[in-house]
Amino acid sequence: MSTSRCPNCGAQIDSETPCETYFHQMLFWESEVPALGVVHHYLVLCYYIQHPHLYSPEGLRFSIGELEEFIETDITAAQMREKIASDVNSRTRKFKIKGTPEAYGAYPQPVAWTMNAADVVARGRDHYIDSVSQWAKSVYDALKGTGQLS
Ligand SMILES: [Zn+2]
Repeated sequence: MSTSRCPNCGAQIDSETPCETYFHQMLFWESEVPALGVVHHYLVLCYYIQHPHLYSPEGLRFSIGELEEFIETDITAAQMREKIASDVNSRTRKFKIKGTPEAYGAYPQPVAWTMNAADVVARGRDHYIDSVSQWAKSVYDALKGTGQLS
């Protein structure tokens, strides 16, 4: 077993196990234990923001703005969904969320993430809600540290 770095988020990973595997593990936990879904919005935002090519440039900015609002205010996931419904509705949305090979999100300088998908999985399902909340805060802090927040 050899280690390498994820080309997208820089996490030190076992080369047989890309970050995506951990993302799927967490989705699986959420489906096994529905109560864990309370942090689903953080899971998606953290994973995608750390793998910015999955987003379009506009989608990345939009999602960073969402994360900022979640951390800085007490808005709930349900309230956020309602608020952005018109933005994400594909008929009214003015930009694509998902990245394409021609247009994908990237950072002007590398962001030094302090926590990643593998860390959350390593802490186990019993600590999932706490771990994902911490992950979200760490992503927010790392973005703030490199001046990526609005
Ligand atoms: Zn990664």
